Amino acid sequence: MNKRIHIFATGGTISAAGSEGKTSNYYDGEFDIDALMSSIKGAIALASAEGEQILNVSSEDISCNDWLYMAKRINEMAKDDDIIGFVITHGTNTMEETAYFLNLTVKTDKPVVLTGSMRPATANSADGPQNLYEAIALASSEEAVGKGVMVVFSDAICGAERVQKMNCFRPDAFGGRDFGYLGYMQDNVPVFLQESAKRHTVNTEFDISGVDKLPKVEIAYFYADADPDVLRVMAERSDGIVIAGAGSGMFNKAWKEAVAEISGRIPVVRSTRIANGIVAYDHADDEVGSLYGLTHSPVHARILLSLALTVTDNKAKIQKMLAEY
Ligand code: ASP
Repeated sequence: MNKRIHIFATGGTISAAGSEGKTSNYYDGEFDIDALMSSIKGAIALASAEGEQILNVSSEDISCNDWLYMAKRINEMAKDDDIIGFVITHGTNTMEETAYFLNLTVKTDKPVVLTGSMRPATANSADGPQNLYEAIALASSEEAVGKGVMVVFSDAICGAERVQKMNCFRPDAFGGRDFGYLGYMQDNVPVFLQESAKRHTVNTEFDISGVDKLPKVEIAYFYADADPDVLRVMAERSDGIVIAGAGSGMFNKAWKEAVAEISGRIPVVRSTRIANGIVAYDHADDEVGSLYGLTHSPVHARILLSLALTVTDNKAKIQKMLAEY
């Protein structure tokens, strides 16, 4: 049997070592992919899994160029009939960003599954082996074909388009917010409960094959009395701005003035600091020229806006993409 899973290892807590038994104050990048795979020998029988260390960093150090590299490698390797799925081991802090970028840019139905751990391998409560086992099992499964990029964590399968890190300490760290999980992993068996209704993978219009650098989109976080000059400085240095607004994507009069100045030059998308709900059209969008981010979190809106700008700078078309992806 030549069928195999390709694992890209990038680092994160799943690669970390710290004080014997303890959960915090550890160093990422201490264990490589061979060490991770040796901790889950049983899973290798599910499909022959091959590991490749492409980085060994904390996920705060993952860059947009790393996303482009991963997407291009997956798109190239997916042409190999013997590769039936992909796993990416990744730090949890920016996992939802890499997952969403790949969800919009990989051109394959084959499963692409991200996982990691909240506890270093040296902790008594190390969760890396279980998560990696479940990720390899999911990537090997026929039921996972065509489901889009997924994050597997602590027995839950999350769809990339809504996944968010919801807990910065406990192993059950990821969720799909109001939209829930796609399903569970019961040991090596996926139990799917729902599917994404959004466009992903082979059904997106984003072709990154010729893209070497992504349009630069920054996120501005609004809070009471926040300095509107932050927006003006960002506008000088970027191709688009996402605002993490208060409530349903709101900000004060001073920020509205700044957005009105900027929005003729670059798109400005309103999203929200709040995990759940929808940032719908508001009359302010006509007044200041902003777009509304619907259910996208600020980090997801930033990725979508950056990819949208590889295709168009037409605001109506970008607004349509915010609804479709
Ligand atoms: N520092 C880690 C990271 O690389 C956190 C984790 O993986 O849980 O994101």
